Amino acid sequence: MSEAHADTATRLLIGGHWSPSSTGQTFLTRDPSTGRPLREVAEASPDDVDAAVAAARAAMDDPAWTSLPRSQVSLLLWRLADLVEANADEIARLETSDNGQPFEVSRNVTIPGTVGHLRYFAGWATKIEGRTAPMSNPDVFHYTRREPVGVCALILPWNFPLMITAWKLAPALACGNTVILKPAEQTPLTAVRLAGLCEEAGFPPGVVNLVTGGPAVGKRLVGHDGVDKVSFTGSTEVGREILRASAGNLKRVTLELGGKTPMIIARDADIDAAVTGTVQGALFNSGQVCAAYSRFYVDKARSDEFVEKVAAQAAALRIGPLISEEHRSSVDGFVRRGVDEGAQLVTGGKPAAGDGYFYEPTVFAGVRDEMSLARDEIFGPVIPVLTYDDPDELVGRANDSDYGLAASVWTRDLVTAHRLAASVKAGAVFVNMLHVPDPAAPWGGFKASGIGREMGAYALDAYTEIKGVFMNLATEE
Ligand code: NAD
Repeated sequence: MSEAHADTATRLLIGGHWSPSSTGQTFLTRDPSTGRPLREVAEASPDDVDAAVAAARAAMDDPAWTSLPRSQVSLLLWRLADLVEANADEIARLETSDNGQPFEVSRNVTIPGTVGHLRYFAGWATKIEGRTAPMSNPDVFHYTRREPVGVCALILPWNFPLMITAWKLAPALACGNTVILKPAEQTPLTAVRLAGLCEEAGFPPGVVNLVTGGPAVGKRLVGHDGVDKVSFTGSTEVGREILRASAGNLKRVTLELGGKTPMIIARDADIDAAVTGTVQGALFNSGQVCAAYSRFYVDKARSDEFVEKVAAQAAALRIGPLISEEHRSSVDGFVRRGVDEGAQLVTGGKPAAGDGYFYEPTVFAGVRDEMSLARDEIFGPVIPVLTYDDPDELVGRANDSDYGLAASVWTRDLVTAHRLAASVKAGAVFVNMLHVPDPAAPWGGFKASGIGREMGAYALDAYTEIKGVFMNLATEE
């Protein structure tokens, strides 16, 4: 950290003002494709976090936000989406330099995904409705209201920085909350840009605040009594810490955590389609995807053919870098452990040559259920192939995991597809397709993959409190 570059570093957005850290502290991000320094970023101090919370609380009491007609909230979100689209190339380049995702991914996945979430929830802003229900006492009229939870701390990971920011920000604002964005320390730049666009779109001051920095900034938010809700996407380990630390004022907490997605390739599957699904499902964004397909169950009779084809496609693929040297060492550690545990390394298995944090697409055969390759979230370009003899073992083996974020089934048979989809413990099941979330479909995990759901109508539960109003309609006799 240094104070020297505080004047050229990115700034914090607190209550409509862009300011350096109150201590002048900054930190440096790196371009994962070269390893070279990228940008000096403000490191928010505890005072800055407190100021951001105070600003978000004040905005929760400000009629400029709370009395804004719902149609105007919708318009602001739509305008924000237009601004992201109007600056798409520049923002995509920023995401690529910050996160390392290839430009085709940032331009063709991140940008449309971000815009899609903003527009989807722009639509919801005018449709946040209550209900009536007949009471047992016919003289009581009852209705419910959905009200904003209040100040929401949105704590973000580095793997899809902008899109994940949008999938939290859009429903939070659509439901009338105020927010504090806390991007990951590795990838803060597109959140800084998005916060600027929120201002340009016309959100009142204090509705969207931004504090950059490391885990200490996240911790301060999670422990803060002025924060009503935490929405966190990141590792399961930190998710557990957040749940404990938010107990003070019993914050509302949604957690989108790690995964170890099984891909089940049934006996009747179109093997070539499954091979392509494996390579893309495992290696997209260099495997740094929470729902990445990361353990593959193949019929023993077809496994040699499958492994050979997967290895040939994987070895020919050019993928982007991993996020950091530290993460590359962690991925390499899992690969070394796989070899030590007796799995057969078919291709890859080491850092790729050149600058930057690249790693070779890696395929293992002969992986067994108890091996770390089959159990741990690696979050890198590693494809562990397991085999089965009897399809009846598949559900038990797929469910033998702490995680339950997603699962994938490849089959031509509808009965197999529906039976497996119903029996696998996961928040999303993808049949004969890649793990592509959609703003309209719920997203979240069973078991250690998280708590709650984001996206779709389900996100409204995460960002509202329900109030019941009882009206006495009895007339005096
Ligand atoms: P991480 O848990 O290390 O960090 C995430 C964020 O939390 C960062 O902003 C970090 O500064 C902050 N943080 C760290 N410690 C904290 C603490 N004690 N209190 C509050 N905040 C704290 O995660 P990561 O390495 O950035 O992201 C990778 C992980 O995210 C993977 O496990 C991946 O599976 C998961 N992920 C899940 C989903 C999903 O939808 N389920 C989506 C993307 C990523």
